[in-house]
Amino acid sequence: MNEEIKEELYDVIIIGGGPAGLSAAQYASRANLKTIVLDKSPTAGALAYSSKIENYPGLVKPISGQELLDRFRNQAIKFGSEYVEMQVVGVKLDEEIKEVHGIDQNYKGKAVIVATGSMGRKPGIPGEEKFLGRGVSYCAICDAAFYKDQNVCVIGNSEEALKEAGVLTGFTDKVYLIAPSKEIKTGDDQSPMDLKKINVILNHRVSAIEGDDYVTKIRIKDLDTGEEKDMAMDGVFVYLHGSRPIVDFLYSSVPLSDKSCVMTHRTMETSIPGVYAAGDVTCSEVRQVVLSAAFGSMAALSAEKYIRHRKQIRSDWIKS
Ligand SMILES: Cc1cc2nc3c(=O)[nH]c(=O)nc-3n(C[C@H](O)[C@H](O)[C@H](O)COP(=O)(O)OP(=O)(O)OC[C@H]3O[C@@H](n4cnc5c(N)ncnc54)[C@H](O)[C@@H]3O)c2cc1C
Repeated sequence: MNEEIKEELYDVIIIGGGPAGLSAAQYASRANLKTIVLDKSPTAGALAYSSKIENYPGLVKPISGQELLDRFRNQAIKFGSEYVEMQVVGVKLDEEIKEVHGIDQNYKGKAVIVATGSMGRKPGIPGEEKFLGRGVSYCAICDAAFYKDQNVCVIGNSEEALKEAGVLTGFTDKVYLIAPSKEIKTGDDQSPMDLKKINVILNHRVSAIEGDDYVTKIRIKDLDTGEEKDMAMDGVFVYLHGSRPIVDFLYSSVPLSDKSCVMTHRTMETSIPGVYAAGDVTCSEVRQVVLSAAFGSMAALSAEKYIRHRKQIRSDWIKS
């Protein structure tokens, strides 16, 4: 893995490209702050999953979550934000200049806004937790190279799951996609060649992950007949979504509540100077697009106050 540190210093690094992250990006870049959004996937967040949105202000007709998200992203980019599709895997937040670590690139910034949403889940498949790091992974891009010519499977039915299975086909031709549903979501940019290389098993649930020191097999269950069978497997990549805040990459560097959400003050500051959080990853009681967008803009305004050493938050740069 080539871990380069980008020499450029950003004012604001935003982790997550959902409504919270993109609204923060729009406000930060419009305030002339050098801003970058690092987003695991534009199809992986809660808004991307919503087939229809009709309660976001200004929408006279319902639109798809994906379309609304595209508008948020385009608006942030129009005001000068950089957008990079990249999963963040670690952070270093205790110094004045903070570091955000991706798979093959690290970034430096004066302020960080965490906006990774709440689509995470607790390990739920028997064996998943036990074999984490020993055959079970949540990141094909990070770990695919360890499974050259081996049996690997991706569990999930989302576009993201399919994309990750596509990544694995670059390393082995024994790639299985096991979906608990009767169909999978395919994206526009999915090459038919990738799809041909993936063995898709629909309507099956993985009921156990087993092995010795490392994973050696999985058990799958046909959801219609209840029939179970074992499959030899070396790598298991889990892409099922739940409703837990996504905070794994923070490694306890930011205080979390007992429900694992990021605790913030009213203006979205965490207790670490220069670190903010917004949207579903925080301990907000209500999870809605309009609130995430509002929290995102508040986080950016707070970051602006911090970076420019202001006494008070201001939102009237255009007039100044
Ligand atoms: C099925 C469904 C229907 C919904 N319907 C409505 C509705 O009708 N109206 C409404 O107002 N709200 C609705 N919601 C809720 C709404 O979608 C969420 O409240 C909102 O999307 C939260 O925004 P967010 O930016 O906090 O998180 P998300 O939208 O989840 O975005 C998080 C982003 O962070 C990225 N990310 C995650 N981990 C990492 C990482 N390690 N590194 C980099 N990036 C990462 C993800 O790829 C994603 O792009 C719905 C939610 C769901 C699931």
